[in-house]
Amino acid sequence: MSNAGRTVYVIGAGIAGLTLALALAKFGTTVVVLEKSSQIQVEGAGIQISPNASRVLDRLGVGRAIRAAAFVPKAIDIYPFRREKPLVSLAVGRSAEAKFGAPYWVIHRAELAKILHQACRRFANIDIRFGVRAVDIQTHARGLSLLFEDASGETRTVRPFAAVGADGVHSQTRMETVGGAPARYSGFVAWRCMLDLEKLGDILAREGTSLLWAPHFHGVTYPVPSSRQFNVVIMSKVKQADLTEIRLKQGPKLPRFWLKSAAFDELIARAGDRWTGWPVNTVPRHVWHRGPVGLIGDAAHAMLPFQAQGAAMAIEDAAVLAPLLVTEPDATSAFAHYAGLRRKRVAKVASLSRRNGFAFHLEWPFTIARDMVVSMQGPLAQLERLGWLYKYDPSPEVDTGPDRAA
Ligand SMILES: Cc1cc2nc3c(=O)[nH]c(=O)nc-3n(C[C@H](O)[C@H](O)[C@H](O)COP(=O)(O)OP(=O)(O)OC[C@H]3O[C@@H](n4cnc5c(N)ncnc54)[C@H](O)[C@@H]3O)c2cc1C
Repeated sequence: MSNAGRTVYVIGAGIAGLTLALALAKFGTTVVVLEKSSQIQVEGAGIQISPNASRVLDRLGVGRAIRAAAFVPKAIDIYPFRREKPLVSLAVGRSAEAKFGAPYWVIHRAELAKILHQACRRFANIDIRFGVRAVDIQTHARGLSLLFEDASGETRTVRPFAAVGADGVHSQTRMETVGGAPARYSGFVAWRCMLDLEKLGDILAREGTSLLWAPHFHGVTYPVPSSRQFNVVIMSKVKQADLTEIRLKQGPKLPRFWLKSAAFDELIARAGDRWTGWPVNTVPRHVWHRGPVGLIGDAAHAMLPFQAQGAAMAIEDAAVLAPLLVTEPDATSAFAHYAGLRRKRVAKVASLSRRNGFAFHLEWPFTIARDMVVSMQGPLAQLERLGWLYKYDPSPEVDTGPDRAA
C-alpha cells in the first residue's frame, strides 16, 4: 500500500473532519485540518451514537475514552401526546450491543469533540490549524491548489493530493468548489437545553431516553450523567419569517399538559432563557465530489435529525473514504468509489428520518393506528427493524461498483 507523498487537507474540525483525520492518520497519511474557529467545539447538547458509528470509533482507538464519558441508555420510552406512562420501552443499550457487537452511547458533544481532538493530537502526522480563514480551492490540470490565511494572517498555498470538505451544512466547499446547492431550511427549529438532573425527579426515566410525540412537534430527552444534567430537545415548526434572534431565545411554544403531567410542563417552563433555538437545515440534493475535492458529513448530506443519524453517517463516511484515499490511484477515483459506496445508504437513512418526522407528528385520529402498531410490535421492534442500519460495518472491500459519473 503506497502512501508516500499523499497529503490530505480536511476543511472543518467537527465530528466528520476529526474522524477522517484519525482514520487517515492510521494509514500513515499526512493530514492537515483547517478549522475556522479558534478552538474545538465546546458548545451543544448531547448526541446519540448508534452501533454503526460506535463500531468505527472503537476501531479508531477512542472507544475507551468515550465509554468513560458516555451513558448507555437502557431503553427508549415512547410517550404519545398527553400520555403519562410510556406506550412502549424500546430496548437499546445492552441489547443493541449484544445484537450488533457495538454499543449505543449517549455523550455530550463537547466531550466527544474533546476525545477526538485529543486522539488526533497523539498523531505526529495530523496537524490541526485553528482560526483559518478564506480557504480557496482551485482544481486544474495538474491537480489541486489550496490557498488559505492562517491565524497569524499569513497566506499559504499548498498542493495536496486531495481536499475534503467536512465544513458542515453550510459548507463553502460544497457551494464554491463542488457545485452543490445552498442548504435549505427544513421548517423545524431544534430547541435545546440542558437541565439539572436532580430536578427530573421521577417524571421521566433517568436510565434511558424518552421520545415524546405530539401533533406537529416532538421531544427527546436523555440524561448526560457526566455533567449531571439531562438534555431536552424539542423540534417544532417555525415559519422562516419568524426565525429572529429574539424568537430563537424564547424557547418553544408548547401546549399545556403535553405529557398529561403538570410536573413536566413546569420543568420545561422553568428552563426559561436556557433554550437555544437551532433552525434545522438540510442538504436536499446530496453531492459527493468534483475531481480531487470530496465532501463528507453534513457538508455532503445534512439530513433531518429524526433518526439521530447525521453524525453517525459522517463517521461512516470517514471510515469508508480513508482507505480509498490511500489505495486508489488518484483522488478523483477515490472520491468516485466512495460516492458509489455511500450514496444509496445515506439516501435511505435520510428518507427514514423524514418518515419518522411524519409518524412522530401525526394528529388524532391517525395516531390511533400508529400507536396500536407500535405497541403490538413490542420492545425489540427498533432493534429488529433497524438491523440493516446498526449492523453496518464500513469496509472498503465491500464494492458495490464505482460511480465514475460524479
Ligand atoms: C437537534 C439535532 C440533534 C442531533 N442529534 C444527533 C444524534 O443524536 N446522533 C447523530 O448521529 N446525529 C445527530 N445530529 C446530527 C449531527 O449533529 C450532525 O450530523 C453532525 O454534527 C455533523 O458533523 P460535521 O462534522 O459534518 O459538521 P459540523 O459539526 O457542522 O462541523 C463542521 C466544522 O467545520 C467548520 N467550518 C465550517 N466552515 C468552515 C470553513 N469555511 N473553513 C474552515 N472550517 C469551517 C465548523 O466550524 C465546524 O467545526 C443532530 C442534529 C441536530 C440538529
